[in-house]
Amino acid sequence: MLFASAAVIVATAMPTAFPGSRVIAMMVALLVLAVVLAIAAQRYWQSRQRESLEPPRTESQRERDEHLKLALWASGEHFWDYDLIGRRMHHMRADESIAHSAEITVLTRQGDVPPIHELDLPLVMERLRSHLQGETPLFMSEHRMDLSGNGTWAWVRARGRVVERDLQGRPLRIAGTARDITASRNAEYEHRIASEVMRSMSEAVAVLDWDYNFIAVNQAFTRITGYADTEVIGKPMEMLDSGQQDAASHERMREDIGRDGRWSGEMWKLRKDGEEILCKIETNVVPDASGQRNLYVQVLNDITEQKRAEQELRYLANYDTLTSLPNRSLLSERLSRAIVRARRESGKVAVLFIDLDRFKDINDSLGHATGDRILRAAAARVQQTVGAQHTVARLSGDEFTVVLEDIGSMEDAEVIAQQIIDAFMLPLSFGERLELSVSPSIGISLYPDHAQVPTDLLKHADTAMYQAKAAGRHTYQVYSETMDEKTRHRAILASALRRALERDELALVFQPRLSLTEHRITGVEALLRWESKDFGEVSPGQFIPLAEESGLILEIGAWALRQALMTLHSWHQQGLPGLTVAVNVSALQLQRGDLSDVVAQILEETGVSARCLELELTESVIMANPEKNADTLRACRRLGVSLAIDDFGTGYSSLAYLKRLPLTTLKIDQEFVGDLTHDTDDEAITSTIINMGHSLSLNVIAEGVETAAQLQFLRDHGCDEIQGHWISHALAPDACLRFIREYGMGHEIAAAS
Ligand code: C2E
Ligand code: MG
Ligand code: MG
Repeated sequence: MLFASAAVIVATAMPTAFPGSRVIAMMVALLVLAVVLAIAAQRYWQSRQRESLEPPRTESQRERDEHLKLALWASGEHFWDYDLIGRRMHHMRADESIAHSAEITVLTRQGDVPPIHELDLPLVMERLRSHLQGETPLFMSEHRMDLSGNGTWAWVRARGRVVERDLQGRPLRIAGTARDITASRNAEYEHRIASEVMRSMSEAVAVLDWDYNFIAVNQAFTRITGYADTEVIGKPMEMLDSGQQDAASHERMREDIGRDGRWSGEMWKLRKDGEEILCKIETNVVPDASGQRNLYVQVLNDITEQKRAEQELRYLANYDTLTSLPNRSLLSERLSRAIVRARRESGKVAVLFIDLDRFKDINDSLGHATGDRILRAAAARVQQTVGAQHTVARLSGDEFTVVLEDIGSMEDAEVIAQQIIDAFMLPLSFGERLELSVSPSIGISLYPDHAQVPTDLLKHADTAMYQAKAAGRHTYQVYSETMDEKTRHRAILASALRRALERDELALVFQPRLSLTEHRITGVEALLRWESKDFGEVSPGQFIPLAEESGLILEIGAWALRQALMTLHSWHQQGLPGLTVAVNVSALQLQRGDLSDVVAQILEETGVSARCLELELTESVIMANPEKNADTLRACRRLGVSLAIDDFGTGYSSLAYLKRLPLTTLKIDQEFVGDLTHDTDDEAITSTIINMGHSLSLNVIAEGVETAAQLQFLRDHGCDEIQGHWISHALAPDACLRFIREYGMGHEIAAAS
């Protein structure tokens, strides 16, 4: 190699442009080659001569060589010897692939130092320099070298020292050992990374031995469990067990690990401070260094908070926070499951849709906080009645739904609906000594008779509930297909009603009231009529509830009042002074609290005396919020307006309240009057109401009087006034005026004859 390079250096040095120069160059090269060969031959001869001068190897030298071979073989160390002047490396190592000491062969290599990685070279040179200059007793270095010459870097740990110096003490040779530490260095590197990862992990990591005793834990383990490593190492894994964790769970975990080599799951653990934490645990098997036994690496995550948050979210997503009942989404889930079960088992599922009657009025008048308390009490009442086995959900506002599973027939559902209605007969208590009567209206639908899917079942139950409201509230209705038509019709009517005032479709009719003491018509009741251009005559029983629901009743009510007083005013002027008019007032008009202002203004506008006006309110309207309504009523009364309680006997008015209200008149409901003379109960009730009214100094009127016998009974029992078809139907204003005049004249004729 060295020689070849020399020839090339000479050959390339010759000018090539000169003719015949190629031949001359060849000759010169051959000449140089000959010289070089001669020098080499001489060197070889000298070295042979030196060898022949060396004394023959003794027994002890051979023994030493043998020991060196053994040492190299057993330790895996390489021997190197570097000639600092000749810059040549002598390298010796035992063939490590040999299994028996007897066969050891030593591989030697002469030549250059194998390449050192450029990143490590400065440090190696620095170490070498400081040793050669006597600053360090030993040359020691760990660096990368390309030992195999194929470009792969091996980590080498080298040690050596100067072994020969010249007379001036300058180092001539340095020798020592080296060792390929790539594997251990990689392992150490990996170990360093692994421990760094373990240290910086936010999850607790525990290494357990084959008996599940702690061997090592990381800092996060200490943070999460409260135990320092010294407190757990050597102790069994069970030391962290909480009482919530059943003993068998560990057995199962061990079995799983034995079978699958890993286990993951959740376990309750006990912190050092006694607090229980829920941990998500991943356990993996790792063979120990010997490969003989298994170690277990456990990664623990404290998920207590996460679980709590999840549960809270799940709760919020599925439950109504006010009543703690399932909400709409959980209801649909449960209803779907109930239907799937019923389909499988050919069973039936009933849905009860419950709406509290006039709850909006309660909420508006008593305030939302009280409304909420009443809703909670109502929720508890429904759940108590149907039992824990049935789902009661709150959909929104005052709407509740009950899912009845495993029922035999529609009759079973009806029985439960009636039980709910009965349960609400007792007032709901919503605070200390605070009670209120609320009634439910219930709609019922049945799977599979009415619908196959939850949404349809709910929709049908809702429709049926509306029919229960339309049927007078405080009752239940079973869904039927005709109801859908009715519901649609209601919606169309409601929008038509909105235009009724501007289209001049509303009118008042007047029903005369006969005074039994004065034997003359002393007043009239104004009753609304709607002659719709699209639907013909719509009864007040149909459109008044619609107007109340939509709030239109405020406008319509004020219109009716103005219209009634204007009519009365003209009658007064047409010779009927002192005639009174009774006008019906709705809950919403009362709840607004400004009823007295509205009345005062219209009285002033129309110029009618307050004494000639009576306002009629039903029991349920007043009782929705007796205290607040009493204030409004007192304000009306102060104007001089009379106040009647209408349809008396159908609600739950307490006498105590009646006494406190500034009422002037009590109107016995036509339900009792209608049955007079053939129902002794109704006779008893009617006579009691008359007496009770008189004892409270109230004017008592019976409405719906249709027969002479009824009239006679009422006269006999001291009723003050009557109203009904026996006297007259409700009449248009002109007809009514005529009727009153003629009745008066007839009466005078009768009195005169
Ligand atoms: P109400 O105030 O109790 O009115 C008496 C109802 O009984 C009237 O029905 C009247 O026509 C009817 N009636 C009178 N005498 C007899 C009788 O001898 N036999 C029978 N079977 N019925 C008789 P109407 O006009 O259909 O009104 C029904 C309800 O609508 C009223 O009951 C009242 O609550 C409400 N209403 C009517 N007009 C108004 C109004 O201007 N405002 C408000 N808020 N409600 C009104
Ligand atoms: Mg009335
Ligand atoms: Mg009435």
